[in-house]
Amino acid sequence: MDNTAAKNWDNDHFMHPWEGMDSLGNNDRTFVEASDGVYVTNDKGDRLIDGPAGMWCVQVGYGRDEIADAMAEQARKLAYFSPFNNTNSVASEFAREIAKRTPGDLNHVFFTTGGSTAVDTAIRFVHFRNNMLGQRNKKKIISREKAYHGSTYLSAAVSAKERDPLWLDKLTNIAHFLPNVNPLMRRADQSIDAFLEEKVADLESAILELGPENVAAYIAEPVLASGGVIVPPAGYQKRCIDICHKHDVLYISDEVVTAFGRMGHWFASKEVFDIQPDIITCAKGLTSGYAPMGAAIFSERLIADVSGQHGNGAVFSNGFTYSGHPVSAAAGLASMRIIEKEGILEHVRTIIPHFQDRLQGLADLPLVVDARGMGLMGCIQCAYDKKRDSDLERDYELGARIDAACQERGLILRPMINMCVMSPPLVITSNQIDRMFDILEDAIRAVD
Ligand code: PLP
Repeated sequence: MDNTAAKNWDNDHFMHPWEGMDSLGNNDRTFVEASDGVYVTNDKGDRLIDGPAGMWCVQVGYGRDEIADAMAEQARKLAYFSPFNNTNSVASEFAREIAKRTPGDLNHVFFTTGGSTAVDTAIRFVHFRNNMLGQRNKKKIISREKAYHGSTYLSAAVSAKERDPLWLDKLTNIAHFLPNVNPLMRRADQSIDAFLEEKVADLESAILELGPENVAAYIAEPVLASGGVIVPPAGYQKRCIDICHKHDVLYISDEVVTAFGRMGHWFASKEVFDIQPDIITCAKGLTSGYAPMGAAIFSERLIADVSGQHGNGAVFSNGFTYSGHPVSAAAGLASMRIIEKEGILEHVRTIIPHFQDRLQGLADLPLVVDARGMGLMGCIQCAYDKKRDSDLERDYELGARIDAACQERGLILRPMINMCVMSPPLVITSNQIDRMFDILEDAIRAVD
């Protein structure tokens, strides 16, 4: 297919997420033109396994007629109407189905347009609630290094990727960041247990230093996805939520990546990490990526704090034109039905050990400094010189080079500086996992 024209349009007009200004107007991006199952097809006609499931989101795989039909039917029936003073039955049903699957009493679903706006909504709600409770100073949000919660001004304020502050301004009065929880960062003589104790102590000291009367919430991804699939030491999440609740600090579990099956459950907070958050944010897998949508989900207790006798005429003036968009809700419901009908959560739980085994099998390869993951998420961190610490200047393009070598062999990855991330569609089979890791291994050896 000749797509010279589209390449020019793309370079001249389409500003992409995380656009590199040096290469603006002169990019040679992979054009993905078609898809089926766990595969995408590029403009050269090559069929590639989709390692990152789009952007951690295409849970049920591509080309699902059930979802396309549900969306088309809904678009014909009611493509859109304002959610402000009205509602629609498909979004109402979707809210109920989500609430049925959330842990505990997280029953109140605020639909947003994606993950960033879900995080924004969660934080705005926490501030709103504290104002209503007369706790006007209780506003700080604790987050941590390498966390990614979104690209709106507020969700970016609680995110902490290292390059963020170099070029973009950031709201500095909102967040307090804890150090990295990646066990790889621990001192050579430090055990995992000691590292865990240190990180837990970091949280409690931060709350005490800032003053519990000033700390509104702690926001955390159960596994830090875009930071490079950072898996905190076992038990960390539970210890953290206990500390938060001891000091009257709310716990926001950002499950934009981990919900809807990536860890083998609808939500990972309770089932995998044994925590009952006050708020969950989700997006991506909510609709399997077929339509944009996110949600912030609140507990009965939080809603009780601001409603009924406490309501006092207040309005939570936060909302989006597309909150509860009917076509997105139809996509989400159809995706949920597929997950249920095909037993996809059970399937994921069955194949996780194989996925993680194959990932660990890369650990001793040249270039690979760390192979880590959990659920159906994995990351390899690479360096040209394994024996030395990663040198980001030198290793900067390594992820992209490995991805390019994979693409030549039939696999697309998500390169991030010196890392490559995998989070395939949940319907991936054992053989496809083998194929994926065989290609990756071959590519790493070729790049070395
Ligand atoms: N939270 C987490 C954990 C994410 O990984 C992301 C995106 O990758 C977001 C929030 C932001 O979601 P969105 O890109 O849909 O705004």
